[in-house]
Amino acid sequence: MRLSQLFTKTSKTIPADETAKNARLLIQAGYVYKEMAGVYAYLPLGLQVLENIKQIVREEMNAIEGQELIMTSLQQKELWEKTDRWDDEKVDVWFKSKLKNSTEVGFGWSHEEQITNMMRNYLNSYRDLPAYVYQFQTKLRNELRAKSGIMRGREFVMKDMYSYSLSEEAHQKFYDIATEAYLKVFERVGLGNDTFLTFASGGAFTQFSHEFQTVADTGEDTIYLHRGKKLAINEEVFTDEVIAQLGLQRDELEKAKAAEVGNIFSFGGTKSEQLDLYFIDEDGNRKPVILGSYGIGITRLMGVIVERFADDKGLVWPMAVAPAKVYIARIGDEEEVVKAADELYEQLTQGGIAVLYDDRDMRPGEKFADADLHGIPYRVVISSKTVAAKQLEIKQRRETETVMMEPQAFIEKLLCL
Ligand code: ATP
Ligand code: MG
Repeated sequence: MRLSQLFTKTSKTIPADETAKNARLLIQAGYVYKEMAGVYAYLPLGLQVLENIKQIVREEMNAIEGQELIMTSLQQKELWEKTDRWDDEKVDVWFKSKLKNSTEVGFGWSHEEQITNMMRNYLNSYRDLPAYVYQFQTKLRNELRAKSGIMRGREFVMKDMYSYSLSEEAHQKFYDIATEAYLKVFERVGLGNDTFLTFASGGAFTQFSHEFQTVADTGEDTIYLHRGKKLAINEEVFTDEVIAQLGLQRDELEKAKAAEVGNIFSFGGTKSEQLDLYFIDEDGNRKPVILGSYGIGITRLMGVIVERFADDKGLVWPMAVAPAKVYIARIGDEEEVVKAADELYEQLTQGGIAVLYDDRDMRPGEKFADADLHGIPYRVVISSKTVAAKQLEIKQRRETETVMMEPQAFIEKLLCL
């Protein structure tokens, strides 16, 4: 992408109505646009980050036999009444509306009910099981407070997966596989060291649910973590009994603020019973399908990545999610400089490496500040000096030192990453 053509602009002004670092930086860098509190639009570079995160999640969900679909945003009230979750007293984040004929509809804040009801059309016999389905969806939730930028939206992207299994044993096996897949996702997006499998309150069916909590000052949760074992306990279930049950010692645990980036839990057969999703087993018995639910907050994850890595100069993206891997800062417009910069841009782009090419008529200092604010992993300076030396001047986002490298060597290095 040539910056001379990108419609978004960076801004030096810190948005006055935004207290969260993630939203402030993303707005200043032109990655998101704030429509209103808790409601953000994703602009080309912000969307690219989201797509990169989604692609990693998609690969890991496909690897465990997940099948992607997309459910509707408008939902029928009757299904939520069957599970007693239509009432605003029971679920406090509902957005609701009415059709012209006065039929009440809900705006999807979650989709267990809808997917499970739909599955009655397809899952009838033990031969149809298991089935694992997932989607990326914009959830709508009338959150009371929205002060954490994109980490808590009233409109936000979630990946939600649902597992339909034959038996408790089969379910538990998949639950463990999904847990591993989740850990891989957080590893791949750069949060592996900071993300802990966390025991949290379970609900009617199991003693615990599991959260994936990333240590973050801006997180809304408090956890007690064990670094060595990569486990944590959410404050809400932090008792001597639970500590002992998990084979941990109180004095080995570290208290930390954390953000819930994912959440998985088991419903057993309860939701299937409420919604009438039964199958016929090998012996001809009618049984409820065993259901599990697995969420990842895609936009929250992006916010947590910003919070975790950004510095006083701006965003810092891990390689795997960066909207571009390379920022070319072209200094001057002499013919040979333009030619060298255009050539590098072409070669990297053709090699499948996303580039932000700063071909604008601006001072070097402004370009360097923008390269930092954008948080692109590699900054490459091309000037008459570097062209004369047949080298590129390269700096990684977090480093202060630059290194000189031949263009071909740099391209090969990136292709191998
Ligand atoms: P929280 O405890 O943060 O309110 P939740 O327990 O209601 O979240 P789920 O309904 O299980 O969350 O949603 C799955 C995931 O979606 C969460 O783990 C979180 O990462 C993300 N998420 C939930 N609510 C929001 C929100 N308002 N904005 C952004 N992401 C969210
Ligand atoms: Mg939660």
